[in-house]
Amino acid sequence: MTQSVAPLHLVTRFAPSPTGRLHVGHGWSALMAMDLARREGGAFRLRIEDIDGTRSRPEHVTGIVQDLRWLGVEWDGDIIFQSQRLDHYDGALVRLRDMGLLYPCFCTRADIQASLTAPHGPEGPVYPGTCRTLPQAERDRRLASGAPHAWRIDMAAATARAAPLHWPALPYPPRRAAMVEDVLADPLAAGDVVLARKDAPASYHLSCTLDDAAMGITHVLRGQDLRAATDIHRLLQALLDLPTPVYVHHPLLMGPDGKRLAKRSGSIALAELRDQGIDPLRLADDLRAGRFPVGIALVQA
Ligand code: GLU
Repeated sequence: MTQSVAPLHLVTRFAPSPTGRLHVGHGWSALMAMDLARREGGAFRLRIEDIDGTRSRPEHVTGIVQDLRWLGVEWDGDIIFQSQRLDHYDGALVRLRDMGLLYPCFCTRADIQASLTAPHGPEGPVYPGTCRTLPQAERDRRLASGAPHAWRIDMAAATARAAPLHWPALPYPPRRAAMVEDVLADPLAAGDVVLARKDAPASYHLSCTLDDAAMGITHVLRGQDLRAATDIHRLLQALLDLPTPVYVHHPLLMGPDGKRLAKRSGSIALAELRDQGIDPLRLADDLRAGRFPVGIALVQA
């Protein structure tokens, strides 16, 4: 099924996690999301995904804002911080729990890795379901004893309740006149993903889905690496009666070592380019035209 892309008011966003400085790929993604909105007379929002208490740093928030401004990325309205929206995530968790779709998981990372039979899904090893079958009395006992736990979604039960599901996709590069295509979502492939963690009040999947809806995002533009996450987000939208935006997944960039750019691996940070005296307007124009700094190229699908 296809439909033309003509929402009343197009709203896009950029949603970085403040776990490091932004690299060229982030800048490129943010420019694309902003331009998509601007071309349609819509709005572009900035959301800081700062609920990972172990990795998020306030200094990276400052750095991200600085890097984006330097590159000429301008957002509408206030910056949304996920750390200020914890109540919303909690409310959704309660709803899903009341639907009987969540269970507490007491497994440690090591427990899961030790399960050699665990198959791999699009997001890594699929959770083998150990705690899904814990007898209720044992669950209650462990919860009462304060044992650290995460909350996982029972994916089979959840998809049985809301499937089949599709999400609308716009092809990359995002163009005004492009036709929207319906993609079949396969959230089951990811297994029983975590929706709330021991050390974080909500997982990326839950907070991102809720915030895109709350911010009125009509078009989510993000990297191809999050395509499988979109299947999960579509399921959460169905379960929580949230609207479904249109998705554009852009290719990723790789560095001279042939590896995907990542904050961790010391890929060219926008801050480094600034320190080298690069003209940001020129850099932004180059990125828009798909001309990347030397050594950086699109990862071929
Ligand atoms: N916060 C995520 C990241 O920095 C991106 C989330 C999204 O665009 O949905 O990778």
